[in-house]
Amino acid sequence: MKPLWLLTAMAGLLSSSVFAAPINVKFDKVADNVYAFVGPTDDRTLDNFGLNSNHGLIVTDKGAILIDAGASYTAAKQLEKAAAQVTKQPIVAVINTGSQDHRWLGNGYFAGKGAEIIALQRTVDTQKKLAKGQIESLTKTLGDQMKGTEAVTAAKPIAADIHSLTIGASEVKVRYFADAHFPGDVTVYVPKANVVFTGDHVYLDRMIGIHPGWSNPKTWRSAVHELMKAYPTAKVVPGHGRVADMAMAKKETADYLDYLNDVVGKAALDMDSIDEVSAKAKDLAQFKHLKHYDSWNPRNVNTTFLFYEQGN
Ligand SMILES: [Zn+2]
Repeated sequence: MKPLWLLTAMAGLLSSSVFAAPINVKFDKVADNVYAFVGPTDDRTLDNFGLNSNHGLIVTDKGAILIDAGASYTAAKQLEKAAAQVTKQPIVAVINTGSQDHRWLGNGYFAGKGAEIIALQRTVDTQKKLAKGQIESLTKTLGDQMKGTEAVTAAKPIAADIHSLTIGASEVKVRYFADAHFPGDVTVYVPKANVVFTGDHVYLDRMIGIHPGWSNPKTWRSAVHELMKAYPTAKVVPGHGRVADMAMAKKETADYLDYLNDVVGKAALDMDSIDEVSAKAKDLAQFKHLKHYDSWNPRNVNTTFLFYEQGN
């Protein structure tokens, strides 16, 4: 028999994150032939395969369309396995809604199996700029899971802002509104089902992140307002967080972007002090419930203030 101290130590290890069970990657039905995998709203970890993001699946009679390829070769395989649980149709096309790792680094896996990678030129431009840094940083977090991952972008990027594609009897619309979380972020709309995959335009349950040098709080805000107008009654699959509707997208993303621009940005233009603005923005009752509020809200306020102060 093992001594008690050893059993206790082992139990401690088992309950620590090192031995936490990997998440179950699974697509849930959103509408007829339309599915979503709603990833955890935590950071990227080995246990979530870097899939701390939402992904879509549209099933047609001529193959399935995956929305966003996952953060790595391993993550792509997980998504493929999850797709196989809901349809026998193979993934024949992968649409990238953006340039963050989990949106596209799994492209290579699917391209290797003959799937067409679909992305706008402006999305690909940003992917190419970010590729090296993303792979380096993900390799630190995901280690061996990154094996086989290559920065494969769409072979024929689309030089337009709106692109319709029809596979089998299903039509899907890719649409760019404005630079948002990253330059070249797009949305994917399924007219028949009235479902919109917003990519990183909309985050629910968790705080958005304004990345210095990449995120544009001004145009991100206008993009979200435009997409709310374009698809007012659509079911919303956000980039992160639960599936909901436009009222929720307004409440948890658009209203916050309004605050950043109307209050924080305005204060910068009025040459108020950043300390005062930050102090006022500390307790925003409307948004405090969002995950990562304490870490991201101060950064977002700071980044937005500087963005405006620098004349953007
Ligand atoms: Zn994201």
